[in-house]
Amino acid sequence: MHFLDQAKIFVRSGTGGPGAVSFRREKFIEYGGPDGGDGGKGGDIVFEAVPGLNTLIDFRYTQHFRAQRGKGGAGANRTGGGGRDLVIKVPVGTQVISEDKEHVLLDFTKAGQREVFLRGGDGGRGNASYKTSTNRAPRQHGTGWPGDEAWVWLRLKLLADAGLVGLPNAGKSTFINRVSNAKAKVGDYAFTTTRPQLGVVSHKGREFVLADIPGLIEGAAEGAGIGDRFLGHIERCKVLLHLVDAHGDDPAAAYRIVRDELEAYGAGLVAKPEVIALNKVDLLDDELTDALSAELAEASGAPVLPLSGATGAGLEAVLDRLVEAIGPAEGGVPDTGEDSSEEPVEWSPL
Ligand code: GDP
Ligand code: MG
Repeated sequence: MHFLDQAKIFVRSGTGGPGAVSFRREKFIEYGGPDGGDGGKGGDIVFEAVPGLNTLIDFRYTQHFRAQRGKGGAGANRTGGGGRDLVIKVPVGTQVISEDKEHVLLDFTKAGQREVFLRGGDGGRGNASYKTSTNRAPRQHGTGWPGDEAWVWLRLKLLADAGLVGLPNAGKSTFINRVSNAKAKVGDYAFTTTRPQLGVVSHKGREFVLADIPGLIEGAAEGAGIGDRFLGHIERCKVLLHLVDAHGDDPAAAYRIVRDELEAYGAGLVAKPEVIALNKVDLLDDELTDALSAELAEASGAPVLPLSGATGAGLEAVLDRLVEAIGPAEGGVPDTGEDSSEEPVEWSPL
């Protein structure tokens, strides 16, 4: 699968509708005055931050966004209807950046934040508005002001939905690489001075972000400035996947060491739901797998899933549990705004 934490899109607000050229026609009045109404305003390009989205991945399918143009004015001084605004839904944390990547134009920090990015053009004036004492029958009218257009980058600082924990050598990197073949691109994503392992996992139509939490803890201790970002990951995490090396000396002890570390770290980590997997079971026979699983279940007081990050055995069940714990994604349906209802058009990935 492909992974994008940034996407380039084209946006254009609607052109204003043309003003009308019209003259009153009434019984017994040969020449009525001008009564052409103004055109309607073109639709705006609006961005809105919504909860429940966590990647920009779907912007690869839709890259052009055009708001509706305003409708033309009409006789009897009727103003044309406004073009509908086009509302582009983005995940919280998204920034809109200029095409040259020099300027942050908009920064979405909380759900519900809504910003007009490009205003639609005003409607052209109808001929009624050109009437003067010397020109009582103007045929002049405005054609409508153009909207604005721009190429911009959307950039998202990814936050993890699931955290991966386990002692060094438990198989965390192997696991993250296996479930998210996005590794290379994610690795290139430098949003902090360190580069936590972070991957987007796609499972049964659901996408979520998985991060190597101990890696982050180590990183957090290293440098100033990373702290907030790290806490963002922890807060966002709905579940921890705890990998225990089946090939290690004492799996139950290894489990407890990590739990103690999480406890000591604080930030609510220990309170997160935890999925426990006995990893590297490809190295064991079934009997030993069962025995160690039972031992680990006893020590943790929770069910234990057998797993091999190397061969993929047990992967499905582990991902099912993670998706279940993370819960459903919210999001709207792509809509390019060609229908005629007056509601603003909403579009969001996923
Ligand atoms: P991390 O320190 O938790 O990130 O662990 P790594 O993913 O780097 O793995 C540590 C070692 O265990 C490496 O030599 C891996 O090849 C090996 N390893 C990881 N997962 C498995 C597995 O499922 N089965 C086997 N046999 N080896 C594994
Ligand atoms: Mg590692």
